[in-house]
Amino acid sequence: MKKAIVVGSGAGGAAAAHELQGTFDVTILEAGKEFSPFTRNITWLEKLRKYGFFFDERMITLLFPAMRIRKTRNQMVFVNGAGTGGTTTLCTGNGLRMDGDLKKIGIDLDGEFEELSREVALSTAHQIRWSYTTRKLFKRCSELDLYPVPTPKMGAYERCTGCGRCILGCENRVKWDSRRFIESAVEKGARLTTGCTVMKVAVTDGRAEGVLVRHGTGHRFISADLVVLAAGGFSTPLILHNSGYHCQDRLFVDPVLCVAAEMRGCAQNREVPMPFVIKKEGYIISPYFDYLSFFFNKKWRYPAEDIYSIMIKLGDSNTGSVQGKRIRKELTDQDRVKLDEAVEFCTGLFEYLGVRRRDTFIGTINAGHPGGMLPLTEKEAGSLHHSMLPDNLYVSDATLLPRSLGNPPILTIMALAKKVSRSCMHKIA
Ligand SMILES: Cc1cc2nc3c(=O)[nH]c(=O)nc-3n(C[C@H](O)[C@H](O)[C@H](O)COP(=O)(O)OP(=O)(O)OC[C@H]3O[C@@H](n4cnc5c(N)ncnc54)[C@H](O)[C@@H]3O)c2cc1C
Ligand code: SF4
Repeated sequence: MKKAIVVGSGAGGAAAAHELQGTFDVTILEAGKEFSPFTRNITWLEKLRKYGFFFDERMITLLFPAMRIRKTRNQMVFVNGAGTGGTTTLCTGNGLRMDGDLKKIGIDLDGEFEELSREVALSTAHQIRWSYTTRKLFKRCSELDLYPVPTPKMGAYERCTGCGRCILGCENRVKWDSRRFIESAVEKGARLTTGCTVMKVAVTDGRAEGVLVRHGTGHRFISADLVVLAAGGFSTPLILHNSGYHCQDRLFVDPVLCVAAEMRGCAQNREVPMPFVIKKEGYIISPYFDYLSFFFNKKWRYPAEDIYSIMIKLGDSNTGSVQGKRIRKELTDQDRVKLDEAVEFCTGLFEYLGVRRRDTFIGTINAGHPGGMLPLTEKEAGSLHHSMLPDNLYVSDATLLPRSLGNPPILTIMALAKKVSRSCMHKIA
């Protein structure tokens, strides 16, 4: 059987490994370690917060190594997962089909989404655990014809305890994450190597021979007949760059900004995040307790259980890049105008809840949906392969998305990764 290397075990990598194993002998190379949720009690961290112990978001990685935090010079904070399951282990479980842009360029993912609907259960059973404030906000939004929709979540949400710790990893494995696909691939014979960072793809005479990796303290070469890169929107472009292939400066990140207010005893920190979504032109809004702002933004001075916060997730312009380890990303004027409009909208919602405008405060801009640096176009719609790459080197993660979704991308990335895998099987197997 031919050998395939899949780089990364997040949404795109896990879906690809799950599809390819059997047709290929798959090895999954994952830079992070085996994922463990953050299980410590947060109350003691809150005490440290009071004494000003937390001053830089990057400190999170020391406490919770599976969460990687980076910052740009202009203080935009980026979050991604580094461990088995990639960023899916930190997700809030939202499962939405968002393939409009792919459809427009001729990529039909109906079959793949249909398959995913059998493999990944979607549920709105979390509704029974919504807090009083969330129910009230949902009702107000419905009355205002804002069409709030309970968010479909991936997993067995009838077992959800509503602990609110989704972004720290779900201890009870209620929330689906891509480790399920990895486990299934391993059951079928795939090998998973953790702590193994792919540095570059080795290419000879226009053919990928394998990858160069750093594993422990040493470097080595692993050969393969097929290489599939799914190291995420920041790392896949870097690996390609190191291998001599330059991506486009079209990085999007889906920036998040939260508008919050003191609401005594609302306990949003102890309910499922993003329980419902309202779609607006260019952004979505959803209730979300923002741990990053809570610990690191001085304006968030109230106790966790007294803060209610509404997230704005923006579909940003494709104008950023990854250069070496540095991420360059700035919001454009157009992004800022949209963000201001969204802040105004959320402030209005708080007013409907009886909160005075001057009592609202905003959080820190952060982002966790990087992608777009090697976008698919009509030209690649059939092959899902960029002609600048060797025939046996594919990409299967958010790097391929034509533009920001401004929405949860996991299901769409996985559907795309399935289709990419089929293309690999057809061409290489
Ligand atoms: C807090 C948070 C909540 C989110 N919630 C949701 C949600 O509810 N629903 C949703 O749809 N999306 C959500 N997202 C976004 C979603 O998780 C990501 O967009 C998605 O997982 C990206 O998939 P990917 O395959 O491109 O990359 P990832 O899932 O990030 O996987 C990349 C993997 O590659 C590994 N890797 C990186 N570099 C290397 C290397 N050099 N060698 C080997 N391995 C490497 C990484 O460690 C990682 O495991 C959330 C994101 C964040 C930060
Ligand atoms: S709220 Fe808690 S139990 Fe429910 S999915 Fe999130 S982490 Fe798991």
